[in-house]
Amino acid sequence: MDALAEKISGAVDLLRDMLSETALKIWEFAETGGNEFKSSSLLTDRLEENGFAVERGLAGKFPDNGELCDMPTAFRAVFGEGGGTSVGIMLEYDALPNGHSCGHNLISAAGLGAALALKQVICGTGGRLVALGTPAEEGGAPGKIELLHAGHFDGLDAVMMAHPSDRWNAKSRFLSIVHPKNGGIVYRGAAAHASSEPERGRSALDAVLMFCQGVEFLREHVRDGTRMHYSIVDGGSAPNIVPDFAKVNIFVRSDDTADLERIKHRVTDIAGAAAVMADVSCELEWDYPWFSPVEVPSFYSLAEECASAVGVNPEDFEDYDSFGSTDAGSVGRIFPLVHLDFKIAPLGTNWHSDDSARAARSREGLDGMIMAAKTLALSLGRLMTDPETTRRIKEEFAAHGSGHSF
Ligand SMILES: [Zn+2]
Repeated sequence: MDALAEKISGAVDLLRDMLSETALKIWEFAETGGNEFKSSSLLTDRLEENGFAVERGLAGKFPDNGELCDMPTAFRAVFGEGGGTSVGIMLEYDALPNGHSCGHNLISAAGLGAALALKQVICGTGGRLVALGTPAEEGGAPGKIELLHAGHFDGLDAVMMAHPSDRWNAKSRFLSIVHPKNGGIVYRGAAAHASSEPERGRSALDAVLMFCQGVEFLREHVRDGTRMHYSIVDGGSAPNIVPDFAKVNIFVRSDDTADLERIKHRVTDIAGAAAVMADVSCELEWDYPWFSPVEVPSFYSLAEECASAVGVNPEDFEDYDSFGSTDAGSVGRIFPLVHLDFKIAPLGTNWHSDDSARAARSREGLDGMIMAAKTLALSLGRLMTDPETTRRIKEEFAAHGSGHSF
């Protein structure tokens, strides 16, 4: 272990009790997206006590209409003057309706630990450290994209966060995702008695069924790496009433952001064609997408090296692509990003389940969080103390990101 790794590792070890207690409290709070008031205030108090300049409650900006939105549980905590390398750590702390089954309590504890440990090594480097509290990753309220558009990430050279998982992985690949606003596509037809006067009816459900069928035919003609999944939200109320209202929701995902846009247009055509066939009207407005991050392999390697330097067994690392999506992906489109997965549960554990919620407060979970805090702090510490590495990562990011727009 070199001097920096030793220093950071020792600093995180000293924080272990406080970080574990913070993680367990946030687990108990189990606040869902946009409601993380107690979690956010616990984290900001800890950061402020440790010398960070904290701004509690931020204004976000919607990318599609430019309107500002209140984000009372978001925060920005800054340490350092700037002038050198500026790095960001993202903290998530929202729960799902079934509790902390995604383990975001450990994301924030690991981020807090990394921020506090890193603070001790950045004095004198001229660097700046920004801990960003990013609410509602699981949905329900504005999150990272609105913070990005409002400029809260501006000036950062690189960004990291750590997410619990059933294995370690630094390869931060996610699918872009887009879905309709307002919970789905709405069809409106005309109600009628389904048996005595069916000719007077226009079935909104027919349009939904033809839409789904159209998506199934489309599925054959899209690239590998595409995902389309839908659910019928409202399919009518009784068999003897021709449904005058029906609603279907769909998520479209792709590992290629440009292709996502093309597929979205085809799905729009299918939605409209289904309405024509059923002689009903169609309402579809797409929400803004979450993007895939730009690939930065040398940043991923740096994180892996730092993980082994602080004692993570390299065999616990698995090279895999996530077929999930996260709003962190959009951050990774603008800034070099590592979204580090760290192991807190046996391989194959179902996520968003009671098992993963238990893991997020287990001994193994807290141990993983500590190792993740060390890895984040050491990786970012390397960037702050080694401008050459930072330059290389930024160049690689620029090369892989060229041609993409936000
Ligand atoms: Zn998650």
